[in-house]
Amino acid sequence: MEKKIAILGAAESGIGTAILAQKQGWDVFVSDMGDIKDKYKQMLVERGIEFEEGGHSEERILLSDIIVKSPGIPDTAPLVQRLIEKGTPILSELEFAKQYSHGRTICITGSNGKTTTTSLIYYIMQRWGVDVGLAGNIGRSFALQVAEGDHDWYVLEISSFQLDNMFSFRADVSVLMNITPDHLDRYEFEMQNYTDSKMRIIQNQTKEDAFVYWQQDEHIEEELQKRAEGYSPKPTPSSQPAREGHPTLLPFVDNDFERLALSFSQMGQHNKRNALAAYLATTHVGVPEDIVRKCLIEFPGVEHRLERVEEKGGVLFINDSKATNVDACYVALQAMERPTILIVGGKDKGNDYSTLWDIVRQKCCGLVYLGADNKKLHESFDHLGLPVSDTHSMKDCVAACMRMAKKGDCVLLSPCCASFDLFKNMEDRGEQFKSLVRAGNII
Ligand code: ADP
Repeated sequence: MEKKIAILGAAESGIGTAILAQKQGWDVFVSDMGDIKDKYKQMLVERGIEFEEGGHSEERILLSDIIVKSPGIPDTAPLVQRLIEKGTPILSELEFAKQYSHGRTICITGSNGKTTTTSLIYYIMQRWGVDVGLAGNIGRSFALQVAEGDHDWYVLEISSFQLDNMFSFRADVSVLMNITPDHLDRYEFEMQNYTDSKMRIIQNQTKEDAFVYWQQDEHIEEELQKRAEGYSPKPTPSSQPAREGHPTLLPFVDNDFERLALSFSQMGQHNKRNALAAYLATTHVGVPEDIVRKCLIEFPGVEHRLERVEEKGGVLFINDSKATNVDACYVALQAMERPTILIVGGKDKGNDYSTLWDIVRQKCCGLVYLGADNKKLHESFDHLGLPVSDTHSMKDCVAACMRMAKKGDCVLLSPCCASFDLFKNMEDRGEQFKSLVRAGNII
């Protein structure tokens, strides 16, 4: 009898999994609590894959041999709880698809810098001329690419939520950028649980494989040491414990950038780290050094990440809409070389802004608050004594910046917050900023 797979969550990764599973002879059922986008529904209908939306048929799902769960669904969801009680294996898309791929993988995780480093490594691998796919949290589904003919290489951006449901997965090269507090609500508010999740990136790795990491991170070295001494992390509820890996270590420190005399097209100290990680990962797999160096200089960057929009009337506008937490805004400010008008605000995730006070004093000549409710921003920053403007739409915000900015300044959108109070998402926020900047004039 065909083995049964139920796929929870019908977006990019779920649909890809469904298509691959069908191709591999599984009896497939897709279930989504919400609405499924038309384009995805069409893909299921075309292939005769059964699905439901607007709720889960629990009885049917509980009869499955395995589950592939979207990383967005937490272990605390009632259906997931029931599956855990029953002992049904719950996998991530990447775990499921890897068994059907012959491709070698370079896997990138971390609290910040994943997308930039992943995109850069992908860019280098493409320029090297190998057959490479880009997947994970970014681009098209890994499972779908495997189903459509597979690649020799994959560059995968992996979140902690995906790592939680990966246990036999083994990366040829793993990259861990940093570990700073994030998403703690999904980890019982225990930093160690989140850290253990990130460290799963080295699970199952052997000496044949490599682990690239930032040695100056507060946690990573210590975690490696603990593991060398036999520490075993607590398993997460829906996943078996990871098998410890012992890869070849490829650490880097900030000074390596100068020591190796590298140049990178993207600004900021944090981007030098992203460049170093990519340099180590790609030279390790055999990309000739001259190709890597050239790619670092020519890399066009990633939208919404310290993206240079335009210089207007001597004022430089930078879109860093992706900076949805305080750390990201901090590194953005560090990278600024001109007096900066900082646009901050949005849906606050319990931010502590006091860690920004010193850098704001050093770098900023004005603040523009942009949110549905700016009360907390006034309380947090007004006492610094900088010129402040209070706005509730991107139109007013850009107009305020144009009034406040003087020749030689820079305007930085790096909001520390999620965008959902006024925008569809961070991309929408960044797009609106860019088009209003391009249309406007310094007053
Ligand atoms: P992620 O995919 O992990 O969210 P991104 O590459 O999209 O990371 O960058 C998100 C934000 O994090 C950027 O706007 C930037 O300000 C900051 N950032 C990027 N790289 C790093 C890094 N290596 N260390 C710290 N912060 C970084």
